[in-house]
Amino acid sequence: MVKELRRHNILLFLIHAVFLLFFLITRIYLMAYINIFSVTAYLLNLYILEKEHYRLAFNVVYFEILFHSIFGIIILGHSSGFIMLAIAVVPFIVYYDRLLSLYQSEGVRYPEYFGFMAGAVAVAEVISWKLPPLYKVPQEVYDGLRLALFILVVIDFYYVMVKLMGTVRSAENRLREQKSILERVSKQDALTGMENRRGIMEYLTRATTSGTQFAVIMLDIDNFKQVNDTHGHDCGDFVLIKVSNIINSCVRKCDVVSRWGGEEVLIYLPGCDAGDVVIIAERIRSTVESEMFIYNGRSFKITVTIGTEVSEKHDSIEGIIKVADERLYRGKNSGRNRVVSC
Ligand code: GH3
Ligand code: MG
Ligand code: MG
Repeated sequence: MVKELRRHNILLFLIHAVFLLFFLITRIYLMAYINIFSVTAYLLNLYILEKEHYRLAFNVVYFEILFHSIFGIIILGHSSGFIMLAIAVVPFIVYYDRLLSLYQSEGVRYPEYFGFMAGAVAVAEVISWKLPPLYKVPQEVYDGLRLALFILVVIDFYYVMVKLMGTVRSAENRLREQKSILERVSKQDALTGMENRRGIMEYLTRATTSGTQFAVIMLDIDNFKQVNDTHGHDCGDFVLIKVSNIINSCVRKCDVVSRWGGEEVLIYLPGCDAGDVVIIAERIRSTVESEMFIYNGRSFKITVTIGTEVSEKHDSIEGIIKVADERLYRGKNSGRNRVVSC
């Protein structure tokens, strides 16, 4: 933020240095004095920005432009073109408002700033209309001044608009990134990193609507309550994570592993038929069984029971899951540590 504002401040400093030179050459000394004040203000503002007093820095720029345009109009008259400065301040206020509300809690109260600027410039215009200008300068000087003011205002306008768009875009990108992180997290189980119910339901719904053939595995850790009771809840969490890793090492990249409940896992296997799913389920079961679980120096064994089903005979996701669930519980009732597929 500081870097961008410093660059804009240097641009304004240079613009006023050019004006200072212009008024010295044309011997309009009153305006030259005002520009000495402006150049000093922008130098001082570099220090204010360095100290991160953004609101003060904003006010310095705003009031410098305000006084400069008012004095310009009164001293040199309406046809000098100083009213253009009031236009250049518009994107500047909007830019600052966005920056401050992004990096600090509150933006600029821009209706007040816009209103004050418009009112003050209108009063100066009325004064310059009623009173003759303090300096009467040749027409060529007026023409040159108006052109210089126009060019400088356009440069500043363009510079600030580009910066403003950059700020808006980066804010949009940040929002987009945060949205995708939130979406990811909302479909993930925090402990194991598996998909959660919402996550896997999206895959299953998509597969059912597109008519993709698939199989599911419903898995439940055997006597998991005993693990918690014997070794503690943290050890239970460790088992959940380890079982999740084993499952992931046994399935393909395209398969989706989800935590369906406490220690229940539902796996979506696209393109698998009744034969394929049994092979994968058996691979998971035997790998878990063969693995030694070691927690806090204590080693123990874990087994899982699995029910499977394929999509072909069903119209609904609930129907497929229900059958896989029934088979899982048949497996539990017939002694655990087995795959039931029919
Ligand atoms: P079964 O072989 O019949 O499945 O018996 P079980 O003990 O595995 O099944 P039960 O449903 O009786 O117990 C499941 C336990 O899982 C109870 C619950 O406290 C525990 N549990 C659920 N979620 C978590 C978790 O995130 N961490 C830990 N450590 N335990 C959990
Ligand atoms: Mg269990
Ligand atoms: Mg259970």
